[in-house]
Amino acid sequence: MSNRETYTPWTQEYRAETRAAQGDGWRCPTTGAVPPPVSMGATFARDDQYRSPAGLAYLRDQGTPGYEQLEGVVAGLEGGSDALVFASGMAAATAVFQVLPAGARVVVPQTMYFGLTKWLLEFGPQRGLEVVRVPMNDLDAVSEAVNAAPTALLWAESPANPTWLVTDLAACADIAHRAGALFGVDNTVPTPVHTKPFELGADLIMHSGTKYLNGHNDVVAGLLVAAPQPTDAHQALWERLRLHRRLTGPILGPWETYLLMRGIRTLYPRMRQISATAMTLAQHFDEHPLVSRVAYPGLPGDPGHEVASRQMTGGYSGMLSLHVAGEWQRSLRAAEHCELFIRATSLGGVESLIEHRYTFEGPDSTSPKDMLRLSIGLEDPADLVADLEQALERAAKDVL
Ligand SMILES: *Cc1c(COP(=O)(O)O)cnc(C)c1O
Repeated sequence: MSNRETYTPWTQEYRAETRAAQGDGWRCPTTGAVPPPVSMGATFARDDQYRSPAGLAYLRDQGTPGYEQLEGVVAGLEGGSDALVFASGMAAATAVFQVLPAGARVVVPQTMYFGLTKWLLEFGPQRGLEVVRVPMNDLDAVSEAVNAAPTALLWAESPANPTWLVTDLAACADIAHRAGALFGVDNTVPTPVHTKPFELGADLIMHSGTKYLNGHNDVVAGLLVAAPQPTDAHQALWERLRLHRRLTGPILGPWETYLLMRGIRTLYPRMRQISATAMTLAQHFDEHPLVSRVAYPGLPGDPGHEVASRQMTGGYSGMLSLHVAGEWQRSLRAAEHCELFIRATSLGGVESLIEHRYTFEGPDSTSPKDMLRLSIGLEDPADLVADLEQALERAAKDVL
């Protein structure tokens, strides 16, 4: 008996924010507890007829009972037909590239999440994948790359980590579809609150649930979301992805599944506040004497502003990068002088983080050396401004 059979189903289609807040209305089927409990089983007992009461046999095969709620809610927020939860964003993203046929050609952004670039360069060629990297803000270059040879998949991320370059997703979907390629979108940074890739033509959405969806820096998780009206090609890919998860085991544990669902309940108000604070900071430090440039698509002077304003709604998310004026080492110093901004990698949590990406990524890094990446949290905006102000001032006076 699944939870779905015993809770009272809603009689109406509710909006995304309502679905998130109430987790689609799921309850514990035996006690009515709001919310449903964590089920710690790795294996599930059968009855004397050898039937599985909830259709569950083994954790790696079908996941924990909490998957049904989590996958249903995330599919709902994105407007997709189904979702699959994974152990991390990277497990979800690499699943897509691993189930493509050997020899497949993939066109991916020059600038995107560092880990995925690294995986594609390290393992792509060895698996026979032809990996073509393009600057995604140059649509002619994207079109040329996709049409140069039969292409299986075009991949995008917008705004893209860590420079917040904006990609025109609708134009890329069009380029991919004309060439018979699928279009996958990493929607981690904007979240469905600010961008709906399926409405712009995406065939598949990927999330690092670690970031805004969970929002509390205490879970690593990932998800894939299937297209609203799956074609045969979509369906074939989706079945391969489900089988891949089942047989290779990048599953999320019951407790993390619970925490992720708990985080998603507050996704909408968190994103509204975070994006508003990010805009305040971007505006404050734009044209600041100690900052040479602020990269944030919400600023009218940002190269991606026009496209971002067309495809993003209600804000521009909470990620921005500051380029510190003067010698590049001043950026490292400024990070050292922060008190509220925590020097840590990752993004999307309630605590604001600051990161010198070049130092974090090491010698292969293409991140500018003068750049500090900020993940804005839920602190008072004035406190965040003051923390950065004092840090920049002290850094400017430091003897290097
Ligand atoms: C963090 C991140 C990933 C990878 O997700 P993990 O959960 O860390 O594996 C992928 N894409 C983007 C944009 C990210 O920020």
